[in-house]
Amino acid sequence: MKFSAVPGLSAVKSLLIESVRNEHAAHAQLFAGAEGALNLPLALAYATYLHCQQKGDDACGTCAACSKSLKYIHPDTHFVFPVNNIKNDKDEERFKAEILKSWRAFLTEQPFGNLSDWIGYYGGEDKQAFISRDESREIIKTLSLKPFESPVKVMIIWQPELMHPSAANGILKILEEPAPHTYFILVTNAADQLLPTIISRTQIISVPLLHDSEVQSYLTDQSVEQKKASHLTQLAEGNLNLALKLIDNEEDDHAQRFAEWMRACFKKNFAGLVTLSDEYHNLDKLGQRNMMQYSMNMIREVLMQKSGATAIQRLQCEERKFIQDFSKVMDVRKIEQAYRLLNDASYHLERNGSAKMIFMDLSLQLARVINP
Ligand SMILES: [Zn+2]
Repeated sequence: MKFSAVPGLSAVKSLLIESVRNEHAAHAQLFAGAEGALNLPLALAYATYLHCQQKGDDACGTCAACSKSLKYIHPDTHFVFPVNNIKNDKDEERFKAEILKSWRAFLTEQPFGNLSDWIGYYGGEDKQAFISRDESREIIKTLSLKPFESPVKVMIIWQPELMHPSAANGILKILEEPAPHTYFILVTNAADQLLPTIISRTQIISVPLLHDSEVQSYLTDQSVEQKKASHLTQLAEGNLNLALKLIDNEEDDHAQRFAEWMRACFKKNFAGLVTLSDEYHNLDKLGQRNMMQYSMNMIREVLMQKSGATAIQRLQCEERKFIQDFSKVMDVRKIEQAYRLLNDASYHLERNGSAKMIFMDLSLQLARVINP
């Protein structure tokens, strides 16, 4: 991936390019961003740039190094990433070769994907992925070797917060005294879960979420029609990966479903809530997640409506009407509680709780909050 293929982020890109040109690039860097930030694509572009034999304002894209980097097969770029079913495969070497193949295909097909996209992509199991202790031994071994083709070696560790504690301890030493010509790029979307000793040994590069205008123009470049692009941009809140997924996911009925749900909660219509729980359960995982995200956005819009903000103009007509009505029965305390409940439910959904139970439980609690 070249820098030009990563939308937005011009300030961070210039910083990275300048540091390579001035030979000031730190040997251990932490690309930190919120969920949805493009820090992995940025790390890929950075590795491509480091290896490029004819670099200018970006990697050339055509030299021998670039042609390998763009396929993620450069022998001096190493990847460490979480997986979760290594134990089930008796032939570990074969598993490793296959998973690396999947990883390269994943980066090519879904460069903006997140952890659950990756797990879904290679067919991992519904349990926590992690970076094993063996992996850290592997890192140390790899780094003891000289670069094969490039003057430098790059080690990209994706989601280092999922390292097994002993793996993390294993790499602390190398982070402190990195081998010459080696660049460590840790890429995290949960920097708060990293060991402080790891953070303190790295230079932190903060990767912000995209601006709405950047998400929107990316979508319109992908031939998404203007009105839809603007609606998706509003839902995605700077998370390009989410915006892209929403293109294919039927989100048009979210508005109606949400309104119906809130009415059933308000009226304490339990039969209606059971039906809605069943419907919710029958959505696919992405649909469930999007519905929850949409609901949180709507609750936020209610808060904005309450505080007289004009952002509500972004909403579609029927949504605006509903928000105006709904905000009549809500106050700031209720909004805060409802938002927290939705947020907790999303957390449990991501961890593969039963969608039906979570939705029903959430609905009962929301009913008590909205209409005590
Ligand atoms: Zn090149």
